[in-house]
Amino acid sequence: MASMSSNDDATDRQLRLFVGLVVVLALGAAGAVVAFTADQLTTPPDFLVVSLIFVAIMVSGWLRVRFRVLSNQDVYTWVDVPVVIGFVLVPAPWVILCWALATTLRRLAMRRGLLKDTWQVAKDTLAGSAAAAVFLALGVDPNSSHPPFAIGATVLALGAIALVDQAAFVPVIAISSGNPLRQVATKNLDVKLVGQLFRLVATLVVLALLAYEANVFLLLLLPMIVACLQLWQTGSMRTREERESWQRLAEATDALNAVDLTQVLHSAVSRAAVIFSAGEAEIDLTTAGTDRVVTGSAGRIRYDGPARTDEPEPTDDELTTDLVAHDGTLRVGMLRLRFGGAIKLTEFEQYKLKTFASALCTAIRNASAYAELERISAQNAHDAAHDALTGLANRRQLYERAGRHFDGQTDDGVVALLLIDLNHFKEINDTLGHAAGDTVLRKVARRLSDSAAPGDMVARLGGDEFAVLLTDLPTPAMAGHRADTLLSSLDAAIEVEGMRITVEAAGGIALAPGSGGVNELMRRADIAMYQAKRAGVQTATYAHAQDTADVSRLVLGGELQRAVAEHEFVVDFQPIVDLGSGEVTAAEALARWHHPEHGYLTPMEFLQTVERSGRLPAFADAVLDQALAASDLWREAGFDLPVAVNVSPRSLLDPSFPETVLARLSRHAVPADRLIFELAETLTLSQLDVVGRALNELSEAGVRLALDDFGTGVTPLSVLSHIPVHQLKIDREFVGNVQTSSEAAAVIRSTVDLARSLHLAVIAEGVESEPQRHALWSLGCEAGQGHLFARPMSAARLLATLQRGTAGRPGTLAASLHDGGAVVRMSRRRSGGSGRSALPHLPA
Ligand code: C2E
Ligand code: CA
Ligand code: CA
Repeated sequence: MASMSSNDDATDRQLRLFVGLVVVLALGAAGAVVAFTADQLTTPPDFLVVSLIFVAIMVSGWLRVRFRVLSNQDVYTWVDVPVVIGFVLVPAPWVILCWALATTLRRLAMRRGLLKDTWQVAKDTLAGSAAAAVFLALGVDPNSSHPPFAIGATVLALGAIALVDQAAFVPVIAISSGNPLRQVATKNLDVKLVGQLFRLVATLVVLALLAYEANVFLLLLLPMIVACLQLWQTGSMRTREERESWQRLAEATDALNAVDLTQVLHSAVSRAAVIFSAGEAEIDLTTAGTDRVVTGSAGRIRYDGPARTDEPEPTDDELTTDLVAHDGTLRVGMLRLRFGGAIKLTEFEQYKLKTFASALCTAIRNASAYAELERISAQNAHDAAHDALTGLANRRQLYERAGRHFDGQTDDGVVALLLIDLNHFKEINDTLGHAAGDTVLRKVARRLSDSAAPGDMVARLGGDEFAVLLTDLPTPAMAGHRADTLLSSLDAAIEVEGMRITVEAAGGIALAPGSGGVNELMRRADIAMYQAKRAGVQTATYAHAQDTADVSRLVLGGELQRAVAEHEFVVDFQPIVDLGSGEVTAAEALARWHHPEHGYLTPMEFLQTVERSGRLPAFADAVLDQALAASDLWREAGFDLPVAVNVSPRSLLDPSFPETVLARLSRHAVPADRLIFELAETLTLSQLDVVGRALNELSEAGVRLALDDFGTGVTPLSVLSHIPVHQLKIDREFVGNVQTSSEAAAVIRSTVDLARSLHLAVIAEGVESEPQRHALWSLGCEAGQGHLFARPMSAARLLATLQRGTAGRPGTLAASLHDGGAVVRMSRRRSGGSGRSALPHLPA
């Protein structure tokens, strides 16, 4: 970072200025001392004593007590002891010279850089000069025959040395570490003072001995004493440091126990800098696949972001540790520590670093795991409340939101619900495929969201059903306007795979009712929507009057349970007839509800309610049971007729359906090929997969399948290849128009052709007249059902009808179209029935 290097430049300049100042002061002070002691320098000193002092200074300088001050290593020596003793024994300039020379030699051997070395020599020279000034001021004469025991001068001189030392040392550390002066100065002050006291005592002891014995060789003892004391002090210093550092490590690992990853990383970086006295610490997660690097020092985060490309090359003042668990597995990244200079960790520090790294690794993993958990639960919460395809709110969320309104937890003002159902969406799905259907749904969702008012909630309830909760309506009447705006947003054609599709929709509006809550609101909007559909208008608003009129679809919902239990569902049968011979070939089961109050209800009136309720399986089973019982009855009587049963696509989506059917068949001992399922073409391609599986299973058992209402839907031919179809039932609409509309005739002809090429049977529905029968027959249609032959009737009545037959031919319901007895058809009946020439048949 640019700012960092400019910071370094500023620091460097400050350091250089300060060192310059120390050098100038040192030169001045040394010069002054020489000037003041000029008279003492005329006689040469005792070179033996000077040499001994030099050796003592040299040795004391090498033996050092190390400790750390913030991020820098502080070193102090016992060098001031021989120095002060020197001032007592020989003229000051010699001592200063000895010290400066010893320091220079030592620094030359270490080579720590010119600036640092210069600073060290200048500092020692300045300190020596200060001590010399004390002795000169107090008039201690080194040339006296007997070394004086100058206690006061010794104390002051040692103090002067210490003061100069600190005055030169503290600013340098403060500048380079960026810490306040005071903090640096007071750091380890107790240790320093105790050390100072020891050195004072040592100095005084030696001086006392010299004063009594006057043997300068005593000086040789000095380094030994110094060495012993130093060993002791180093030991206690280390113990203390270790204790402190364990404490800091414990605090740091405690602080790492956070669930927020950023907090963990930031705290780890600044703690690492403190614990390992590093100028800078960096955590790099990129090696473990997370592009994040955090850099900082004690108390300051300098960088937190993706890995920088201008990352400096590692230098020898950088220490890198893998962040791994204690057992060495699961690496989560790296920890880099950068120091002011070359660094070598002690064994203890290495161990500490490893401990820290593994604690950090655990903390990072915990925080990451927690973050992942949070993400997953947020995702789950979102998924639970949203529709995956469109991203809109789902049914659940809409109910919840509307529920809050009813509970008075929101301040929504007047609220209404608009329920939207797309018309003919199935056709889009069927003809263009599932993906195109999805695109349409997404675009519809988008348009609705875009045109909804700010507080409104747009939701997809499933399939092609959407809902908008309209809130804050200024007046109830505004609901209609808002609904119109929303629905007209769907007017513009939607582009799908290069095609322009117009989507039509019907909307039902209901204002929030006073009671009944969300379910009632939903129910009312549902009624309104169906009214709009039936009336062929875009929107309809719920009105109470119309609701009560709509008994059939709604009130009945609550009665289904009873209907199933009380066997109120009954089945009528309508015969299917061979158009040529008039012979009955099968019968279709048609459900009715024998309602205690409403009387006979037709499927049109109750089927949707059943399908939307949870009672469909029970209903379907009741119908199947009666249908198979009827087939059994007729076969017993000699009419082996297959029975056709209508099946809802919803039943086929139930995975247990085939099993239930096969169980019913075996209970009635009806062969599987005597059962035909009729399935209307209301399947979407997406359902085809599941439905196909069920149908294949049934087909393998022998059950046959008819496609009902063929021609009205847009079943692509591919459907026929997905499911095992045996019959096509041509819809009433075409049959009714077969004589008047050439289009209807064409549909029938092509259906017959298709059926022939696929070896399928074709049955015409709703044959109401003899001319229709003729037309169908000549178009190649083999079978038909309709009022011409018989209306749906009970199984027993159908049996009686079969037994009676037409014109004395049991099992037939119409005269044969074959030429007056020229074609004799063999009956499929087991008993009775002679081929008779057909008489014109008159419908009943
Ligand atoms: P669908 O399968 O098309 O049944 C034929 C419908 O046409 C029957 O109406 C029948 O009464 C009527 N119909 C028969 N001949 C003629 C005719 O000559 N002219 C006219 N105009 N209509 C005729 P229904 O019984 O009301 O059944 C209506 C629909 O309800 C059926 O249509 C079928 O899709 C469904 N359905 C009936 N029973 C069941 C059932 O048990 N389960 C299921 N899932 N659906 C059923
Ligand atoms: Ca049918
Ligand atoms: Ca039909």
